[in-house]
Amino acid sequence: MTKQSVAVLGLGTMGSGMAANLLKAGFPLTVWNRSRAKAEGFAAQGARVAATPAEAARGANVVVSMLADDAASRAVWLGADGALAAAAEGSVLVESSTVTPAWIAELDAAARARGLDFLDAPVTGSRAQAAGGQLSFLVGGPREALEAARPVLEAMSKEIVALGPVGSGAKLKLINNFLCGVQAASLAEGLAWIERSGLDREQALAFLKGGAPGSPLLAALSARMTSRDYAVNFYLKLMSKDLQYAGEAAAETGVELTTAANARRLFERAVAKGYGDEDMSAVIEPLRAAGKE
Ligand code: NAP
Repeated sequence: MTKQSVAVLGLGTMGSGMAANLLKAGFPLTVWNRSRAKAEGFAAQGARVAATPAEAARGANVVVSMLADDAASRAVWLGADGALAAAAEGSVLVESSTVTPAWIAELDAAARARGLDFLDAPVTGSRAQAAGGQLSFLVGGPREALEAARPVLEAMSKEIVALGPVGSGAKLKLINNFLCGVQAASLAEGLAWIERSGLDREQALAFLKGGAPGSPLLAALSARMTSRDYAVNFYLKLMSKDLQYAGEAAAETGVELTTAANARRLFERAVAKGYGDEDMSAVIEPLRAAGKE
């Protein structure tokens, strides 16, 4: 069977790994990125580099976007030379960025107005899982559209979770990151406290990791916080964005995320101190500095 042609819009931390796996799996691939330099490397590996999102989407069977936030997604799908207007009849559009359910609803309506199939399919997993083709896709949208896009999603993932109507992926992804963001913030405060408490830091962390609060997130982030290795797996500023989006989306259902609001204050403090473009684990740094400045 001939492989579907795929377009990937956005080659950041996640999109670059996803595009690399599509090439590895043999999909004819066109890539586009706002800063073209990130796309050029893919040309050597056999991808076509498009000058605009429209040029990338034209002729693709499946168009996947992996962008920072609602504003980026809006610009790339609906802006000047946007992907939506150029997408081919019968193609499936896949939004994999972490964005709001409200924006997904708007984008879905725009896709339907053009008679195109649309899926919201945000991911869990980070840089390593994107590079290793081990993401989990959280998918909202029609079954037939998912089946059409499935071979493409499979090349980038270990798991595809079909959740229900369009918007379901965005909702579960924000709930997931709400829980992760709050845990990251509480870990930052807990670790800053450990470091000033006189406890043996390694012994204390080993106990916590093996006990009830232990989780994959706690293990990964505490290692980065103690080594102060903030090479980016997930930009700190993006976690602040996710906590904001989670708060807004939950409020629309009448649930107030007070813990998300408090966690976000910590992330915003770190952004204000210049850590927005570091890994999210750098959220601890302003706490370490507090009272010492
Ligand atoms: P990233 O490295 O910051 O990449 C962001 C991408 O969006 C880049 O391609 C960037 O282009 C593009 N972009 C930003 N603003 C734009 C605009 N106004 N117009 C056009 N393009 C724009 O982020 P990432 O880590 O790959 O994350 C991508 C999405 O996946 C985000 O929604 C994030 O929350 C989510 N996510 C991330 C992780 C993770 O662990 N990293 C895990 C799961 C989900 P330039 O290169 O030109 O800046």
